[in-house]
Amino acid sequence: MDFTELKDIEQKVEEREDFSGEKVRPLAVFFPKDEDEVVRIVRFAKKNRLPIIPWGQGTSLTGAVSCDKNCILVDLSKMNKILEINDIDWYVRVQPGIKLIDLFEELEKKGFMLPPDPASFFLCSVGGAVAESSGGMKGVRHGSFREWVLSLRVVLPNGEVIKVGEPLRKNRAGYDLVHLFVGSEGTLGIVTEIWLRIIPIPKRKMVMIAAMLKDFESAGEVIVGLRKNKILPELSEYVDADVVKALNKHLSANLKETEGGMLLISIEEDSVDDVLKVLEGKAVDIKIAEGEEAEKLYSLRSQAAIAVKAESNKVFYAEDIVVPVSKLPEAIRRLREIGEKYNTKFYVISHIGDGNLHPNIIIEDKVARENAFEEIARMAIELGGSVSGEHGIGVQKAKLMAEQIVKHNGVSVLDLMYQIKKLIDPDDIMNPDKYVELAYKFLTSRG
Ligand SMILES: Cc1cc2nc3c(=O)[nH]c(=O)nc-3n(C[C@H](O)[C@H](O)[C@H](O)COP(=O)(O)OP(=O)(O)OC[C@H]3O[C@@H](n4cnc5c(N)ncnc54)[C@H](O)[C@@H]3O)c2cc1C
Repeated sequence: MDFTELKDIEQKVEEREDFSGEKVRPLAVFFPKDEDEVVRIVRFAKKNRLPIIPWGQGTSLTGAVSCDKNCILVDLSKMNKILEINDIDWYVRVQPGIKLIDLFEELEKKGFMLPPDPASFFLCSVGGAVAESSGGMKGVRHGSFREWVLSLRVVLPNGEVIKVGEPLRKNRAGYDLVHLFVGSEGTLGIVTEIWLRIIPIPKRKMVMIAAMLKDFESAGEVIVGLRKNKILPELSEYVDADVVKALNKHLSANLKETEGGMLLISIEEDSVDDVLKVLEGKAVDIKIAEGEEAEKLYSLRSQAAIAVKAESNKVFYAEDIVVPVSKLPEAIRRLREIGEKYNTKFYVISHIGDGNLHPNIIIEDKVARENAFEEIARMAIELGGSVSGEHGIGVQKAKLMAEQIVKHNGVSVLDLMYQIKKLIDPDDIMNPDKYVELAYKFLTSRG
């Protein structure tokens, strides 16, 4: 492919790998410095019918940035500025390539926070988190990115630039296109500017309760107990016994090892006693941490996937199922049964407070790994849950997403989603053959 027309835009020929280990082999990687350059790249791709893959930081766990040869990557990392922090209207306006950790630090200096904190916050870009509608450790109280995006500028697949939404807390003007693009996984356009809602850092003192549980089942029972008692933590996260061991081994975490792994609950100081009551009989050891110690636990939790990756010698599939919280005990029991069937451990990491479980499957044999993966996802569908809470669909979960939508919503809903993709991207150049499009193909090939 002759890229002379784009020669003044920074570019490289290189192979990459996403976090799931998927190889990415584009014809070229472009590093636009501004929106105009993004527009030129997109127009060029449209003219040449060349697939474009937007790239944030490549921490996708679902193959969402995969591409093999006949495609170009648009790496947004050079568009990484904070354009405005509005301390009265309470929003921040950023370019997509800024790393989430850098944004968090700047907001903190001004006394603000953006609550959704994917455990990859120290790696991922804001654009990637918006395109995936990432959730995070504080999701139980604050939701995922979907709830924090106010407005977006997007370069559409035909090169036209649109701004959807307004930096307003309330806005009822027209269909909600902002939330069509949030979570669209780069399949509808390239996001070039983002307005996000921010809130002041709360003044009430928070503490972190680290409960080393007596068994895995207790984790689900505690969460149901918190709900029954109308307790809403800021964070309720879980890592199972094998993840605790992996954290000790690879990150010198020095955590107590028990049968049931570790449940972390961050909550206002005056609610600690209520939580301790719910934990009665479920925990072998409880620590109440503040300040630096609490931050260390938070940081260890955010690095749990890194420890699992080190343990697994890179062969792992990260599940991302969600079940209704009331079904957590059943999901945990069935997960244990599936583990026994495949004679494997699942290295469960979980935003357990909102029913979101990440069993990590490290079975060497690919067929068995895929079978276990699908069985777990189908269990979630059966329990009225979802195949993905936050990691998205990419390539990996397209078939399962089709099954979920057909079962819970009906064929016509997936068909409508596919019509939207075709309407916005008729030439099928924007991150093609993934997500909705791939799910639709699975559905139609099944007949
Ligand atoms: C250690 C680890 C922990 C994780 N923990 C969590 C977690 O707790 N919660 C969670 O939700 N996820 C988690 N993830 C998954 C992942 O980090 C998120 O999906 C992340 O937000 C993606 O950001 P990225 O910048 O790496 O995007 P990429 O992986 O580069 O891209 C992700 C998708 O977004 C698209 N995209 C990127 N930028 C743009 C743009 N500007 N415009 C349009 N499309 C774009 C890409 O095409 C792709 O489809 C974790 C991943 C790792 C490795």
